[in-house]
Amino acid sequence: MSEEKNKSADGLETFAENKKTKEEQEQKALADRMGRIRHKIMVLSGKGGVGKSTVAANIAVSLAMDGNKVGILDTDFHGPSIPTLLNLEGKRPGSDGAAILPVEFSEGLKVMSIGFLLQNQDDAVIWRGPMKMGVIKQLLTEVNWGELDYLIIDFPPGTGDEPLSVAQLIPGMDGAVIVTTPQNLSLNDVRKCISFCGQVSVPVLGVVENMSGLVCPNCKTIINVFKAGGGEKMAGEMGVPFLGRIPMDPQIVEASDSGMPFVYHHGDTDAAKAFAGVVGPLLVMNDKAEPETKTVVSKKEEKKGMHKIAIPIVEGHLSAHFGHCEEFAIFDVDLETKKIIGQERAPSPPHEPGLLPRWLGEKGVNVIIAGGMGTRAQQLFAERGITVSVGASSDDPEKLIMAYMEDTLELGGNICDH
Ligand code: ADP
Repeated sequence: MSEEKNKSADGLETFAENKKTKEEQEQKALADRMGRIRHKIMVLSGKGGVGKSTVAANIAVSLAMDGNKVGILDTDFHGPSIPTLLNLEGKRPGSDGAAILPVEFSEGLKVMSIGFLLQNQDDAVIWRGPMKMGVIKQLLTEVNWGELDYLIIDFPPGTGDEPLSVAQLIPGMDGAVIVTTPQNLSLNDVRKCISFCGQVSVPVLGVVENMSGLVCPNCKTIINVFKAGGGEKMAGEMGVPFLGRIPMDPQIVEASDSGMPFVYHHGDTDAAKAFAGVVGPLLVMNDKAEPETKTVVSKKEEKKGMHKIAIPIVEGHLSAHFGHCEEFAIFDVDLETKKIIGQERAPSPPHEPGLLPRWLGEKGVNVIIAGGMGTRAQQLFAERGITVSVGASSDDPEKLIMAYMEDTLELGGNICDH
């Protein structure tokens, strides 16, 4: 009898040990995966419907457009909308045998969503708390993001048990972006979100006031439907940063419903500019975001021998907006004899974040003459050893090349910074 007792005690001990080992292994796997991600940012809101996922997706796309490696993890069980926002509905994550591979939206943006795992939207509703946490844990330990500059985590709405458990599962969070709308009711939730962050020891990166006024589609003036400015006031009272107001814009709904990231397709709008303001402080977190000084070089001593020079073209002339050109004029030149040896026109590849530096680099281009270019793009070219001369005027490409070779190329200011 006592022998039997011993046996079962041994069995229990082994079971407990195995469990401990499994937990330790999971912890290690989690720490390893998360250790390869420089910045982890959670996006929170006090309740659903305030635009949390829209803000999360557009932050992620903006960071990727700036040349960063970005992941977005959608942990919102009851409305995993990231696949819809990025036109990835129906996609399934891959596997390399050892790990789950996130779905790629573009070269610089990887996506993992609870939505990819559900057969239909209602599936998660019947999952109980521990089951949901099991899934999140599995996503965190088994998804191989590789090296990332940023992981944006779209949280379940509210400040209840579910977001709390998710926050506790993710080690080393850099901070939280809290999304609200301007009504008092929603602002009260901001207080809850701020104390939630205190509870999980995550710094508040700032508050975003979304749907702050309506941009009139006709006259473009802003109509304050739900009043405005409450988010900023509340942030001030609570002693946390205010990241900006994003107006209500019907194009956001349209873009979101059709899976076309708003900041990418409507970069010229007030709302997209407001998003840029929100993303600014997040970019500063990444020390790589500091623009390198090596941006404009036109020194005689560097101009020796054969060069391949690319000029972005629109309607036959240099395009003021580097990322929006129709094609590239690529010249082979000999800087010693100051002669053009050859030239070709190449249609611009699809406008995907981070693609142009690679594409031009593969073509052997080592100099770019541009009108305007964002600092991050300039940095990416610099990293590839490609020299960029920014601020050239919208002229005939051959004339620009001749001026470059003669050292008479006039460079003004950076006329477009995106
Ligand atoms: P949440 O994640 O908070 O539940 P969503 O991001 O799903 O909210 O947004 C809810 C709805 O509001 C979506 O239809 C979205 O397109 C729309 N929306 C979000 N922000 C804006 C905005 N600034 N202007 C117009 N519509 C918006």
